Amino acid sequence: MSTVAFIGLGNMGGPMAANLLKAGMTVRVFDLVPAAMQALADQGALVSSTACGAAAGANVVITMLPAGKHVRNLYLGNKSAGNGSEKGLLDVVAGDTLLIDCSTIDAQSAQLVAAEAAKSGIEFIDAPVSGGTAGAAAGTLTFICGGSDIAFERAQPVLNAMGKNIFHAGGPGAGQIAKICNNMLLSVLMVGTSEALQMGIDHGLDPKVLSDIMKVSSGGNWTLEKYNPCPGVMENVPSSKGYQGGFMVDLMVKDLGLSQEAALLSNSSTPMGSLARSLYVNHARQGNGRRDFSSIFEQFAPLKK
Ligand code: NAD
Repeated sequence: MSTVAFIGLGNMGGPMAANLLKAGMTVRVFDLVPAAMQALADQGALVSSTACGAAAGANVVITMLPAGKHVRNLYLGNKSAGNGSEKGLLDVVAGDTLLIDCSTIDAQSAQLVAAEAAKSGIEFIDAPVSGGTAGAAAGTLTFICGGSDIAFERAQPVLNAMGKNIFHAGGPGAGQIAKICNNMLLSVLMVGTSEALQMGIDHGLDPKVLSDIMKVSSGGNWTLEKYNPCPGVMENVPSSKGYQGGFMVDLMVKDLGLSQEAALLSNSSTPMGSLARSLYVNHARQGNGRRDFSSIFEQFAPLKK
């Protein structure tokens, strides 16, 4: 049975690692936050004192980190600009270790790490996810992979333990491009759903009734079905828990920045994504960065007196 090193045990990584344990795998964990490691240790994981310690000798290494700079620093160590003499994961893993980064980062960083790994004959795939914290807990995530056919095949057993739909988008970095296309669309849907619901409320409609109508009409979309941004419409979603947990506004701002950078590189026209980024940046600047991204709904609601 595989030994998997799991590094980055936040809102997503924690429940993903727990599903590997449930599937009977040996899981070594590392995070900068001791409490995050303790929560996994309580479920049977082996705690490591460093990321390199967790990765050395593992068959598979999975990382779930905030952004590209964290991924570059962790894998490349002193090969990454400005990181002193620290060792990176590539310095300690064996040649037959499979590296899987599930973070949402820029495609260029994913390609850089894949190329550096390939110099030592090590397979690396980018495998960002969709499905949110609920999908991470339920083991129903969608994985969107970029990398070689061989690495994609080798990743199946571990990805299957954490997800339901596993796609191969193309070569290195392709998973990241597909993922930011998706998140750009998600942000536009969340903003559009929020303004439509608030307009209905302003005209005296019950947001639950309006949501039921739109869900099965031509405006139906994932945010209405699974993640309603209006408090009280759905149970067990962040809007009904004070917008806690879920997917942070700061992370959506990061993803929308990535999508705009990608649009510049390809000279693509993305007016809705550009507007959604501005709205989310504004929302973050008003102190909402650590709240769930569905809290953008409050930008449309009248101020409480
Ligand atoms: P998070 O901030 O909750 O977790 C990140 C974790 O990484 C933290 O526990 C942090 O301590 C740890 N970390 C940072 N640097 C580290 C290092 N050098 N070594 C070890 N641990 C380190 O974030 P999250 O919500 O779990 O998101 C992780 C990634 O997944 C992000 O790229 C995000 O965009 C993406 N994502 C999130 C969601 C969601 O719904 N939350 C959905 C899809 C994708």
